[in-house]
Amino acid sequence: MASHLYRDTAVVLRTYKLGESDRIVVLLTENHGKVRAVAKGVRKTLSRFGARLEPMSHVRLLLAQGRDLDIVSQAEAVESLAPMMTDLDHLTAGIAVLEAADQMSLDREPNAHLYRMVVGALRTIGEQGSALVVPAFFWKLLALEGVRPQLDVCVRCGEDNPLVSFDMHQGGALCRNCRSGAPLSEEALQLMRMILGGRLNDALAAPRSSATHEVQTHATKALEHHIERRLRTVAMFERT
Ligand SMILES: [Zn+2]
Repeated sequence: MASHLYRDTAVVLRTYKLGESDRIVVLLTENHGKVRAVAKGVRKTLSRFGARLEPMSHVRLLLAQGRDLDIVSQAEAVESLAPMMTDLDHLTAGIAVLEAADQMSLDREPNAHLYRMVVGALRTIGEQGSALVVPAFFWKLLALEGVRPQLDVCVRCGEDNPLVSFDMHQGGALCRNCRSGAPLSEEALQLMRMILGGRLNDALAAPRSSATHEVQTHATKALEHHIERRLRTVAMFERT
């Protein structure tokens, strides 16, 4: 049976077992969106794919298109993102990036920008392991979806008052009179402005501190809030 073959580059988001020796790999490809493909014989000791199809692998692939699942025909490593594997913090950060990308990507819907962001985030984790790689990735991901928190003036009253709290349900930072959500420190506010205002490298250079931890907490909550809303929207469409 002739099937359509195509080449693409991808990051392996996750894998799961299929039968005795095969595995399904969930791939974030550069040009074909999220693709689920079968890697045959991958769980045998002498698999021709070896460790190239593990989560976080960056691979160049030849795939055969199927109805639901494609089939991996060839796989070669683009680069090793393995150094991060030696450090538990890096590994945890890498997994957080993969999970967020998995939840925010759609099957077979090309999103080259997301793909590049994921590769960039994984490389940065491996190279410098900045405290803000994951939160910056989350904020950029939200910005890509059109969700950008208001960080310049109070999101409720619009006044140029000092901003003291952050509430993603309101859409950003709030002043003392309007405050809701979680407290927001001046340092964390500056870091979030850097991340979303084109000064990512300055933010990534920030040493680990209570402010970076705070940015991480706000980013995680904002992403969860967004994913929940997305899931609800999807459920609503499925009911109709
Ligand atoms: Zn206000």
